[in-house]
Amino acid sequence: MSKKTTIIGGGIGGLVTALLLSKDEERDITIFEKEPHLGGRLTFMKHGEYKIDQGPTIVLLPDMLLEILEEGGMERSRFPLLSCDPLYDVHFKDGHSYTKYSDPSKQKEELATKFPGQEKGFDQFLTDMKTRFLQGKAQFLEQSFVEKRSFFSGKNLRTLIRLRAYQNVKRMMRRYFSDERLVEAYSLQTLYIGGHPQQSPAMYSLVSYSEHEHGIWYLQGGYAHLVDLIVEELERRNVKIHTDTAVEKVEVVKGRAEAVVIDGKTIEADEIVLNGDFPLMDRLVPKEYRQNRKYVPSSGCLLLYMGVDKVYEHNTIHQFFLSSDFDQHMRQVFESKELPGDPSFYTFHPSIIDDSLAPKGKGVLYTLIPVPAGEEVDWSHKDELIEHVIDQMESRGFPDLRNQINWMKVRTPEQAKQEGLYQGGSFGIAPTLFQSGVFRPQLKPYPIDQLYAVGASVHPGGGVPIVMQGAKLLANHLQYGASQGHNYKRGVN
Ligand SMILES: Cc1cc2nc3c(=O)[nH]c(=O)nc-3n(C[C@H](O)[C@H](O)[C@H](O)COP(=O)(O)OP(=O)(O)OC[C@H]3O[C@@H](n4cnc5c(N)ncnc54)[C@H](O)[C@@H]3O)c2cc1C
Repeated sequence: MSKKTTIIGGGIGGLVTALLLSKDEERDITIFEKEPHLGGRLTFMKHGEYKIDQGPTIVLLPDMLLEILEEGGMERSRFPLLSCDPLYDVHFKDGHSYTKYSDPSKQKEELATKFPGQEKGFDQFLTDMKTRFLQGKAQFLEQSFVEKRSFFSGKNLRTLIRLRAYQNVKRMMRRYFSDERLVEAYSLQTLYIGGHPQQSPAMYSLVSYSEHEHGIWYLQGGYAHLVDLIVEELERRNVKIHTDTAVEKVEVVKGRAEAVVIDGKTIEADEIVLNGDFPLMDRLVPKEYRQNRKYVPSSGCLLLYMGVDKVYEHNTIHQFFLSSDFDQHMRQVFESKELPGDPSFYTFHPSIIDDSLAPKGKGVLYTLIPVPAGEEVDWSHKDELIEHVIDQMESRGFPDLRNQINWMKVRTPEQAKQEGLYQGGSFGIAPTLFQSGVFRPQLKPYPIDQLYAVGASVHPGGGVPIVMQGAKLLANHLQYGASQGHNYKRGVN
């Protein structure tokens, strides 16, 4: 008899789990998605003939991404990835700019011109991170910690020490660069997963290394086009997909998940996967199993999406504009939870390489301002903040921008929260030490048989390729794990 797998949520974690499992034709897979669209955070913002990614824009770890899709039975050639090189520009408030490249010799030329004397530190950074990346990937990204004690093996603990898990990213970068501007340019990547550069363990500095080593890529048509390609394949394989369908609860009988409830109707399943943002999935399980754990949310984003009457051809696709006091902005986001007055921000202008997103000659532009997540934020100065950022964009990279904007949409953490992101944080729970590795929810998060989880708030964490890696760990577990004799006891997980 075929096995019935039910997936709650059609985010990238749920979709890739379905892709990997549906290679087995015997499995009967159903996805229930509460929104009218699939992809969750990986979706488009549309306006007339314009469209732009609403969430993820930076494609990292292309090999990890393509390998997983290939393992799911989709050929690499179906995913039109274009290299972004230069990777991006970082603009400092003092008027200096620094360009990052994939090619280390080009990078060293850039350093010799802009930051003479820092080239040796950069070489050391690449050398140290190369081995750390391979160790970290093998021991933390490619392993799940369903059995907690496997995390505390001597080998893992030695790797954690080598990765300096006890140190934060910013401090670690000070070992390589003495110019604080470079320290910032190599620590701001923790914001890609909603973490404070001074509170995220140093292993997350592998993200800035990976940009140089594996590059930054762009999926032709936008990152969210990945969802269209995967869904097309799932439909071809007869995976059942129901949008506009919220799951209300998971029924558990004698410690085993047996059904989901939708509109008061019970739908039986042999295994159930939670893909909604994990802390909020707690309310779907019976009271006696709930964790009621208070997690620290990742940072939120104030997002501006614009249609513009021209393409800023001479810019790089991705740009970072740092404020005069980066640390103060971070304190406002992560500690005092205030709306920043003078924030650092990121811009994405894909029209430079993709003319399919806007009418001919016109473009789309996206601006992301890190802001606090959570309820206690006073948003009364939001409009001033937006005006300030547009002023900054005009004077530092997008001349005459105001006159070029023909439409603009704004998205706040409040909307993200309403759509199901924990406390409005954009990236799942924050990547702090005690919410990473074994301390993050695992693929079998409850002492409930046949109930699993995947997504940004679940190990190994957030970011599209990493969530896909989580889906791979889960699919392997569902296909082979149980037969390997894992024994889950209540309270152990
Ligand atoms: C602004 C922003 C920028 C980002 N930038 C990048 C980037 O540049 N690069 C990158 O790699 N990553 C980026 N990310 C992170 C990336 O988007 C996420 O890590 C990833 O998309 C999360 O996938 P997920 O599987 O956790 O699913 P989610 O996207 O969280 O989707 C979960 C789905 O479950 C559904 N759901 C929830 N509850 C129920 C229910 N009860 N019943 C049915 N359905 C339910 C939700 O509606 C949703 O569709 C960014 C995120 C944001 C928000």
